[in-house]
Amino acid sequence: MEKKPFVTLEQVQEIVKTYPTPFHLYDEKAIRENARKVKQAFAWNPGFKEYFAVKATPTPRLLQILHEEGFGCDCSSYTELMMSKACGITGHDIMFSSNVTPDQDFKLASDLDSIINFDDITHLDYYDKVGEWKDTMSCRYNPGGDFVLENEIMDTPQEAKYGMTREQLAQAFNIMKEKGVKHFGIHAFLASNTVANEYYPALARILFQTAVELQKETGVHISFINLSGGVGIPYKPWQEPNDIMAIGEGVRRAFEEVLVPAGLGDISIYTEMGRYILGPYGALITKCIHHKHTHKEYVGLDACAANLMRPAMYGAYHHITVLGKEDALRDRTYDVTGGLCENNDKFAIDRNLPRIDIGDYIYIHDTGAHGFSMGYNYNGKLRSAEVLLKEDGSTELIRRAETPEDYFATFDFTGLFSENK
Ligand SMILES: *Cc1c(COP(=O)(O)O)cnc(C)c1O
Repeated sequence: MEKKPFVTLEQVQEIVKTYPTPFHLYDEKAIRENARKVKQAFAWNPGFKEYFAVKATPTPRLLQILHEEGFGCDCSSYTELMMSKACGITGHDIMFSSNVTPDQDFKLASDLDSIINFDDITHLDYYDKVGEWKDTMSCRYNPGGDFVLENEIMDTPQEAKYGMTREQLAQAFNIMKEKGVKHFGIHAFLASNTVANEYYPALARILFQTAVELQKETGVHISFINLSGGVGIPYKPWQEPNDIMAIGEGVRRAFEEVLVPAGLGDISIYTEMGRYILGPYGALITKCIHHKHTHKEYVGLDACAANLMRPAMYGAYHHITVLGKEDALRDRTYDVTGGLCENNDKFAIDRNLPRIDIGDYIYIHDTGAHGFSMGYNYNGKLRSAEVLLKEDGSTELIRRAETPEDYFATFDFTGLFSENK
C-alpha cells in the first residue's frame, strides 16, 4: 500500500513559520477516527476498554483526546501515573502494568485507586507493605515457550522478563483472595508489533482457557482479560495493515467458544495498545540541511536519532516522503542521517528517494508511538516540539521544544560561577 503523508508541503511551509523543524506532528482527526473504530471492533463486549500505553506517547494533550474517546491510561511508572492524574485520568481509568516496580510507584498507583497488574508473585508481599488491597486487581501471565502463530515463531515468552508462570498465577490469585481482592484480571503480552490479524485472537484463546481453569482451581471471580499491546502497524509500504474489525471478530469468536460455555460470558476485554492507536498518526517533520558526497551519498537532516531512535536502535524501517516530491521518480539512493556522533544515526540506509535538495522538508512516517517518547539527549541534542494538527486544519503546540536551559536544569552552576569569576 502506498504510504501518504497526512500533510502537504504547503501546509508544512505554513506550520514552520510558527514552529521550526524538527517537530513531531500528530493528526487529531485520524486519531479520533481510529479510536472510534477500535471501540466499534470490540463493541460486542459491553465492558471493553482500551488503556492507551502512555509510554508510547506520553503527551498530555493526546492522552486527553484519547480519554475523550473513552480510553484510559496504561501506566508503568511514577511519572506516567502523575501525568495521567494531571490529565484527570484516575481510578479504574488507569491500568498500572509495570515491572521491577519501586515502592513509591506502587504507593501512587494505590493512592490513585488504579487497577494494579502485578508482574511477579514476589510483588504481592512487597506491595502489602506500601499499598492498599483493592477490590479489583490483576496479574500478568507468562506461559513460557515460544509463541507460535501459523507455524511461525512470533516471539519467545520464555526469554521475556515479564509475568508469572502458570503455577505462580494460581498461587497469586489465592493469596490475593485472602487479602480481600474480589475481582481478578489476567494480562499477557506475548509478541510485539504483530502485523497479523490472528495475534489477538490467538492470545485471547490462551488467556480465556487459562481463565476457565483458574476460575475452577481458585474459585475467584475473573472480571477482565487484558490483551495488552502488541498490535502492529505497517511501517513498510508493502505490508498489509491489520484489520481491527477482523481482530475484534476473532476475539469475539474465541470468547463465544471458550468463555461463554464455561459460564464466564460476563468477562470484560481490556487492551493496552500504544502503537496501533497513535503510530501512523504522527510524523517527524524535518529539513535537509546538508549534502555529503563521499563513499556514499548522504543527506543530513536537522533531526537525529535523539528525535526518533527506532531506526538506530532496532534497524527499524520508517518510510520517508520528500514533501512536494510525492510523485517524483525515486531515482537516487541515499543514506539519510542525523548529526549524532554515532554511525547508527541513520533514518535510512541505501534508500531509494527522489532527489533531495537542501531546504526540502522530509516527512518521516509512523512516529506517533515510540517516536518522541524514546528521545534522549545524547550529544547534548535537545528534544523537539510536538504539534497537533487539529480537525479544523489549525495547529496547536502540545509540547514546546527543549531549550539549553532545560538541558542544564539538572546542574547547579552557582558554586562554579562564584569561585571562578
Ligand atoms: C509497551 C507496552 C504496551 C504497548 O505496546 P504497543 O506495542 O505499543 O501496543 C502495552 N502494555 C505493556 C505492559 C507494555 O509494556
